[in-house]
Amino acid sequence: MFEIIDKKRNGLALTKDEIEYVVNGYTNGNIPDYQMSALLMAICLNGMNDEEISNLTISMANSGNRIDLSKFENTVDKHSTGGVGDKTTLIVAPIVACLNCKVAKMSGRALGYTGGTIDKLESIEGFKTKLSESDFFKQVEDINIGLISQTENVAPADKKIYALRDVTATVQSIPLIASSIMSKKIASGARNLVIDVKVGNGAFMKNVKDATMLGNKIVNIGKSNGINTVAILTNMEQPLGNKIGNLLEVQEAIDVLNDKGPEDLKNIAIEIATIMNAITNKIDYNVAKDQVIKVINDKSAYKKLLQLITIQGGNINSITAMPKYKYPIYSDYSGYITKMDTEKIGLISGLLGAGRQTKDEEIDYTAGIVLNKKLNDYVEEKELLAVLCSSKPVDFKELGDRYKKALTFGNKKIKFKSIIGIIGEINGRDSKKIKFKF
Ligand code: URA
Repeated sequence: MFEIIDKKRNGLALTKDEIEYVVNGYTNGNIPDYQMSALLMAICLNGMNDEEISNLTISMANSGNRIDLSKFENTVDKHSTGGVGDKTTLIVAPIVACLNCKVAKMSGRALGYTGGTIDKLESIEGFKTKLSESDFFKQVEDINIGLISQTENVAPADKKIYALRDVTATVQSIPLIASSIMSKKIASGARNLVIDVKVGNGAFMKNVKDATMLGNKIVNIGKSNGINTVAILTNMEQPLGNKIGNLLEVQEAIDVLNDKGPEDLKNIAIEIATIMNAITNKIDYNVAKDQVIKVINDKSAYKKLLQLITIQGGNINSITAMPKYKYPIYSDYSGYITKMDTEKIGLISGLLGAGRQTKDEEIDYTAGIVLNKKLNDYVEEKELLAVLCSSKPVDFKELGDRYKKALTFGNKKIKFKSIIGIIGEINGRDSKKIKFKF
């Protein structure tokens, strides 16, 4: 291990055998945290070439079981690199499940300031995020959709390495993020995949150049492993939608499927669902989009989400639960909002109770933030900016002040678009040659 760390510190490429030695050794406990941390930091600083990234991905994917979804046709998965207010899975999964796609999806929990689908689902009273493999497959067979938490034996190496990265400031590395995401996706078995690469001050990728590089790496790893993969780059310079927090986000996802949700969230969800539909059913992009809009408008996707919640034991009536405490924040200034420090806003939501401050802390499911003003909105002095929500009497004044400090005001609007670009092929056509309407 000493030689491997030394090699990477000197900027040299690791061989397949060396990478396998590290992944297996760390997973089975033979390599200690301090040596693994040193190697991860050397990778962060000196990078990895494509062959190393591919070998790392495969070693981590092979560290546990691979889920065999081959009995299903039309399997599709979706993954986000992590953001604030990102409840897209809860919207797109039921949409494509209405369109002949099989969504046998394993999701994760909140990490740092970013949320996780499993915590959102568990905010629904009774919702079971653990199913036996046979129940999970039967449900996917019957209703085209199942959403469960990642089982222990899917890419366990990534699980262990990710936990170490989280506490050693080694998350933000393109080779490590690409291999982490793709090891899980390869092990979870879907043949079609859309990755939402978040870009901006609330994402791991802070600029479009890095996000594009990550998107390209992910698409290439997918391709060389027989997974039809497309990456979409979406904006995280502000929280997605108007609600942050677990139950609040479930409510907002339901709103979108009832044609009531905020435009930025709805547009991104439609785009992701369209690409999932197009690459899985091998149909034209515009046809795929019309189908997506139809199942939203005729409420089939909404009914599919309710069916999913009910079949996995969730109590639909619990979704409207309200937080015990609400604290409105009013503006001290007037002007356009020109910047939102999205990471800080995510952290505030976590401190309200929507995230975990320690690994085993319980989440306050009704906690979070309802945004009344976002980028490019004009705000009058003393106008409502947001409402902080919690079931506990936290220090609202301090968190409210922090929230205000996370906003910048100016006298004119800024340039902003929610969807930045698409990387990969859609049914054999390079996305660069497709005229997207977003
Ligand atoms: N999401 C993942 O699954 N892994 C990373 O490394 C970053 C985001």
